[in-house]
Amino acid sequence: MVTKDLYDIALCTVKNINLKKNGKAGHVACALETVSGIVYTGICIDVPCSIGICAEQAAIAEMLKHGETKIKRIVSVYEDGSILSPCGRCRELISQLDLDNENTVVAINNDQKVTLKELLPERWDKKWD
Ligand SMILES: [Zn+2]
Repeated sequence: MVTKDLYDIALCTVKNINLKKNGKAGHVACALETVSGIVYTGICIDVPCSIGICAEQAAIAEMLKHGETKIKRIVSVYEDGSILSPCGRCRELISQLDLDNENTVVAINNDQKVTLKELLPERWDKKWD
């Protein structure tokens, strides 16, 4: 079972914002908790011609703005309440922020969570650790 409190924060962050030319934002929201216990949130931005950012990236930017890099757990929720696993780019981004983030607990669906190192088992950058 995915931790309910972080899920609830992400779900409450979901919103539907219509943008120019069928663009939209907020239909996916992310909540992450750092090792200090602070929760940061973010929403996706999706505009035509594939420009946009994931909700995870927005939450990570908010976390970095506050000087933190170590993510304890993270969850992203679609507007229908389903949990979305982070895309490959976001998985890699989380891993590049801090060595300890290999232990980040990632919700991958409404019933399962795994560590980031389980999602990225064979690191391409071990040489630089
Ligand atoms: Zn992503």
